[in-house]
Amino acid sequence: MSYQEKFRLDGERAVVTGGGRAIGLCCAHALAEAGAAVVVIERNEADAEQALALRDKGYDVELRLGDVTDSSRMEAIANELAESGRPATVLVNNAGIGQNGIAAEDVTDADWLRMMNVNVNGVFWCSRSFGRHMVAMKRGAIVNLGSMSGIICNRPQPQTAYNVSKAAVHHLTRSMAAEWAQHGVRINAVAPTYIETPMVAAVEANRERIPIWLNDTPMGRMGTPEEVASAVLFLASGAASLMTGAIVNVDAGYTCW
Ligand code: NDP
Repeated sequence: MSYQEKFRLDGERAVVTGGGRAIGLCCAHALAEAGAAVVVIERNEADAEQALALRDKGYDVELRLGDVTDSSRMEAIANELAESGRPATVLVNNAGIGQNGIAAEDVTDADWLRMMNVNVNGVFWCSRSFGRHMVAMKRGAIVNLGSMSGIICNRPQPQTAYNVSKAAVHHLTRSMAAEWAQHGVRINAVAPTYIETPMVAAVEANRERIPIWLNDTPMGRMGTPEEVASAVLFLASGAASLMTGAIVNVDAGYTCW
């Protein structure tokens, strides 16, 4: 197989959670362009408009409505795809929430539980439900959206809950990778730096923080959703056939300093 062919995903069925916008949308686009049939999971139809518009380019993109914190819904979607004869062979656990700027002493029980429920439980529910079919098939690739915040406690904003949730995603990645390697299922994560998306833009104080982040970044810039999607595509493809349990920094060198 040529190197170019190793990056192709023809015949694969890829699920992208939160694939309607920003990083998730770019992942859906990248996987579809590589030849995969893509299923986007979003909480409502309006959020999926841009992903479904990829059909105009001739890509195979479908929507399933669901919330990643709803384990029975994730199980139902995974089973439905398997019963259709085309189970998911690629899963991108992208759906996540941010919580920049809440000091640890002010984080409420509800804030903490919601963060863990979406960012950690959601990743596990989806990995377990879609991954079970991959284990049965003895093939599959899962890519999780971790974060540099799961590696370092970046300044200046307090965000303990988010940092802890992403560190958990990294260890979940390694633990499941170790368990499922014997079943031919690879599990890796990307750990991006600040990416220009609604998640970052939603926090007003981030405007003032951007110069500090850039000063702390060897490459001196933030990233784009497309740059994250390129790394996700690589990890999902046969080009990464020897990689499992890796946390791949996509961070402009942020974690070097
Ligand atoms: P956005 O907030 O822009 O997009 C997140 C997407 O996930 C939205 O479509 C959102 O839909 C969906 N989503 C959120 N919660 C759920 C849920 N419970 N069930 C289903 N879908 C859900 O985020 P980004 O694109 O910025 O981030 C994507 C991932 O990358 C996240 O895991 C994030 O933590 C990670 N990341 C982002 C970085 C950044 O700087 N942007 C840096 C490092 C990591 P809805 O409209 O319904 O909320």
